[in-house]
Amino acid sequence: MRDFSQDHHWLSINTATLRKQWPLDRIIEECARRGIRAISPWRDQVAAVGLERTARQLRDTGIELSGYCRGGFFPALDAAGRQAALLDNRRAVDEAKVLNAPCLVLVVGALPGALSGKPDYTDMCRARSEVRDGIAATLEYARQVKMPLAIEPLHPMQAAERACINTLEQALDLCDELDPATLGQDPLSAQQPVCHLGVALDIYHVWWDPKLQQQISRAGAKPTKNRLLAYHVCDWLTPTRDLLNDRGMMGDGVVELKKIRGWIEQAAYRGYSEVEIFSETNWWLRPGEEVLDTCIARHCSVV
Ligand code: ZN
Repeated sequence: MRDFSQDHHWLSINTATLRKQWPLDRIIEECARRGIRAISPWRDQVAAVGLERTARQLRDTGIELSGYCRGGFFPALDAAGRQAALLDNRRAVDEAKVLNAPCLVLVVGALPGALSGKPDYTDMCRARSEVRDGIAATLEYARQVKMPLAIEPLHPMQAAERACINTLEQALDLCDELDPATLGQDPLSAQQPVCHLGVALDIYHVWWDPKLQQQISRAGAKPTKNRLLAYHVCDWLTPTRDLLNDRGMMGDGVVELKKIRGWIEQAAYRGYSEVEIFSETNWWLRPGEEVLDTCIARHCSVV
C-alpha cells in the first residue's frame, strides 16, 4: 500500500468541497499554493469562470484533473427529454476533453422529476432501463473521442432522486454488459486496452456494502482493463443529519478508510484519493484555507 503519511502527492480536491467559499479560479490558486496536484471540478463551477480560462489556468499551474463532475441524469418522461439528456452528456464529454480529464463521472439519474419533488413516473425498472440506454449511447460517443466514463453508484437513500445504480456490483454488471473486457479489443492500443466504462468509487455511498471487498477485487481483476477510475473520500457521520449535505471530514466518522484503500490498491488502483465533502452545517461554513489545510492533514493521517 502506498505511504500517504509523508506528503500529499496523491491528494485531489473535489471542488464541491469549497463551493460555498470560493469560485473555481480561487480554488485552483489555493490548491496550487499548497502543492495539491489535482482537482475534480463541477460543470457549473467551470461554467461560472469559463471553460477556456479554466483550461488555461490548469495548464499554467500544472494542476491536473482526477475526474470531471458530472454527466448522467438520463431518464426522462418522453423521448424529447431523453434526447436532451444525451446532448447534454455529449457536451459534458467535450468539456472533459478540453480540461484533459481522465474520466467523466456519471450520476446516472433515477425517477425523472423526483429531484424537484414531483416524479413523472415511479417505475424503477423503466428508470434503470433508460439509464442503461443513456450510458450505451453516451459511451458510443465517448469511445470515439477517448473519454472514459465512470459510473458512480450512489447510496440507496438517493435511489429515487439521483441514481438508480446503488451498488458497486450493479455498476460493474453494467460495465461488463456495455463494455466487455476483451484484450486487444481497441485497435489503437492493442497492447493496453483502454477502459472506456468503469466506476467512480465514493466511500460515502459504498462503505456499508457487505460485498464491497469482493466487488472491488472484481473491478480490478483484469489488470489491463481496471474498472476503478476514481476514488472519492470523506467520512460517514453518526448521526448523519442530511441525506446529501452532511458528509464528514475523513477521520470524523465510522468509515475504515485505510482498510478500504488497502482493498483498492490490492486491486491495482494507483490514482488519486479525491476529497469530496458536502457539508452545509460544518465545512462549508469554515474558511477555505482551514478546510484545505485539514484535508491535507487528514489525507496524511487517516486516509
Ligand atoms: Zn463522489
